[in-house]
Amino acid sequence: MKCASNATRSRNSSSLEVIGTHIAAGAAQDRPRVRTRLLAHFVDVARQENRHFPIFARRSMEGEFFVPNSGQAKVTLASNRQAVQSGQVEGCDSCHEHPRASGDLCIVCDRKVVGPRLKELTVGGVTFADVRSQFLSGWHSLNAVRPRVHKVYQISVPSHIRALHNAYRANQRATEEIRVFHSAQCICDMGTKTAALCNYKSCGICCIIRSSFNGFAFGEKYNIGRFGEGIYSYKNPSLADVHATSATSTPYRVVIACDVAVEANLEVPDEKSLFVPCADAIVPVFIIMYTM
Ligand SMILES: [Zn+2]
Ligand SMILES: [Zn+2]
Repeated sequence: MKCASNATRSRNSSSLEVIGTHIAAGAAQDRPRVRTRLLAHFVDVARQENRHFPIFARRSMEGEFFVPNSGQAKVTLASNRQAVQSGQVEGCDSCHEHPRASGDLCIVCDRKVVGPRLKELTVGGVTFADVRSQFLSGWHSLNAVRPRVHKVYQISVPSHIRALHNAYRANQRATEEIRVFHSAQCICDMGTKTAALCNYKSCGICCIIRSSFNGFAFGEKYNIGRFGEGIYSYKNPSLADVHATSATSTPYRVVIACDVAVEANLEVPDEKSLFVPCADAIVPVFIIMYTM
């Protein structure tokens, strides 16, 4: 269910790497003169750009950050720390030392993250209120009982998942993102302790979030529905709720709010499911815990 993507390549590409590729090509064709000339050019470019590879690597690991609204001036690591300490810029949610660069994290911490991170939203906060109102206003059901939202966890997916999603959007010309809901059985007592995923193979919710829709409960690779194998979600959360089953150890039902990339002006009827053929099209964004 993997979508072809150039994300990794485009993320790392630079003029120096392009030259490196030419060198490799020259080497493959056994053209030592071309190789030597290109290698000299390679070093020259590096020198002109004042790059020394070990320094370049260290810089990108530590990150040279841009402070918003400062005329995009490059600042040093020390002044970045100062900017965080003085409250000029928001600090990283993990180290609280460097400025945020990718969501809530700085570049250094973002690179250490291998799986998704969960953060409980403050009840009554702006984001909580937005998610709650989107969930309730989208809820259309013949059943008069309305759900009550108790908790929301924000999901930050690892940067490579975000890159695959962006590449999918570009390759498929899926220029619009719409909010959809997806549910599955939740075996763990999600919402009763700290915000964390469980390791049960039977917990659909945690398997989906951990793999960002690349795996479902019991190692299944996709949903099966009217359009075949893929991922099915709903604009109307009450239709996703049909698939929600909870453990007896939690009072909450659980639904995942997701962003799905679609072509512009696609009409998705409220009463129908939205099908996407691969995981790169859809990103889990919030976990909503509610009661009926
Ligand atoms: Zn950090
Ligand atoms: Zn779980």
